[in-house]
Amino acid sequence: MKLKDISLEIRDLVIPKVGGDIAYQCLGCNKEFPIHQLLYTCPACNDLLMIVDKDFYRFKEIPGETWKKIFDYRKMVNIPALKGIFLYHEFIAPLIPLDHVIYLGEGHTSLVPANDFMKDHVGIEFYFKNDGQNPSASFKDRGMACALSYINYLAKTKRIKDILAICASTGDTSASAALYGSYLHKTVRSVVLIPHGKITKVQLSQPLGSGAYVFEIPGVFDDCMKVVENLADNYNVALLNSKNAWRIRGQESYVFEISQDFDYDTAKKVIIVPIGNAGNITAILSGFLRFYDAGIIKELPKVIGVQSVHANPVYRYYLETDLNKRVFSPVTVEPSVAQAAMIGNPVSMSRVIRLVEEYEKKAGGKKFFVVEVTEQEIMDCQLIANRNGHVICTQGGESLAALIRALKNGVVGRDEIAILDSTAHALKFYTFQEMYFNNSFPPDFEIVPKKELQNSPRFILPKGLDKMPQPGKRLSPEDFQKFVEQTSEEVAAILKLKKR
Ligand SMILES: *Cc1c(COP(=O)(O)O)cnc(C)c1O
Ligand SMILES: [Zn+2]
Repeated sequence: MKLKDISLEIRDLVIPKVGGDIAYQCLGCNKEFPIHQLLYTCPACNDLLMIVDKDFYRFKEIPGETWKKIFDYRKMVNIPALKGIFLYHEFIAPLIPLDHVIYLGEGHTSLVPANDFMKDHVGIEFYFKNDGQNPSASFKDRGMACALSYINYLAKTKRIKDILAICASTGDTSASAALYGSYLHKTVRSVVLIPHGKITKVQLSQPLGSGAYVFEIPGVFDDCMKVVENLADNYNVALLNSKNAWRIRGQESYVFEISQDFDYDTAKKVIIVPIGNAGNITAILSGFLRFYDAGIIKELPKVIGVQSVHANPVYRYYLETDLNKRVFSPVTVEPSVAQAAMIGNPVSMSRVIRLVEEYEKKAGGKKFFVVEVTEQEIMDCQLIANRNGHVICTQGGESLAALIRALKNGVVGRDEIAILDSTAHALKFYTFQEMYFNNSFPPDFEIVPKKELQNSPRFILPKGLDKMPQPGKRLSPEDFQKFVEQTSEEVAAILKLKKR
């Protein structure tokens, strides 16, 4: 759609203008810091930072109904920078001009309704919002698009040059950071630290393919994170973990999209999301709160975080119902098929605690829950979903397992509509599917494959033939005919096909 075809009253607002008055604000001491410098933690007290809108009245000056029109019309305009998370420019990073935005195809991932079989099987209407359909095949691209657009903006405005960007990763952060960094390789060199043997082969291939420096170190993610934090504290490097508040901003686009996907009707909706380092759940809570405060949505939906029994510090924290008795203690993680969320000491925990309080206060009741699921439930759910038209990852399986649990224990009612986050693409985690199909899980996963969910290829070596097709060598027409007939016969026998 061309701008001139958009009705006059809205045309002026459809192309976002640079502006806004945003700042870093410390979660600990509340001090504010100017936005034109790369900061990850509070220079005064070392606590976490959030990005705040100091001019939130700006959002309220435009009625909620007008915001909806702005986003809906904007979706029809063919400008690449507005095709991704920057469709919500004012709510993401209003200081960045559109020509500094890095857009690699992220965001606007599909919302896929469960088929009738799955609805009956689970007992409720639900959707997967499949963030595996992002360019590096996980939701991390939403945050990286924002963080790297910001770095690009700082470079273009001569505030920084030659950045060494660094992150620790359970696999997907490094894939995403390396991808977005490679687009800006004249300015950004990417360095990723991953726990040796604790990410899948596909995930390892991604930063290597993007040309990043890849370091594998002993231990699990939590150990990598400590090394990266030490590097960021002592050397001149840019941190790209979700400690970086720009990542959170970008990831808020996930709930802006959900709001828009349902025509901004958030009543009776339940969002279910896996929790690892707790960056994503932070973004989900913050995003809904900001859309609510701006009058774009009228109701704060229910938000349910999910963790595996093998990595459940957030679940344990919220088990205590007495607010004053809650204490956070990190856990030592055990192997999990939800490997991308296998984190015992989530960096954003204090953000979550703060936001949940605000969320439930504004919602006027309990709207946030954490459920726990077993490794077995995660795998079974992933495989069942993918046998019904989805392409979800193990963490997506975790979301479905959580929905089933939440229905059982009454956290979710049958009249609600659930939106499950599949945080990555199935293909990244094919190794777990393979272990399930071969029954080769190490014992600590405690997974017993169900026969009806297993699958394997059948190799056919047609009997009685001495010549088989090979690349580059043509069979004689008679030999080829024999091969085709014998092979068809054996396939038909296995499938018990009847002759016509
Ligand atoms: C990073 C990641 C998670 C965990 O998200 P957090 O923001 O760390 O809580 C879950 N699933 C996938 C696929 C991920 O890459
Ligand atoms: Zn501080």
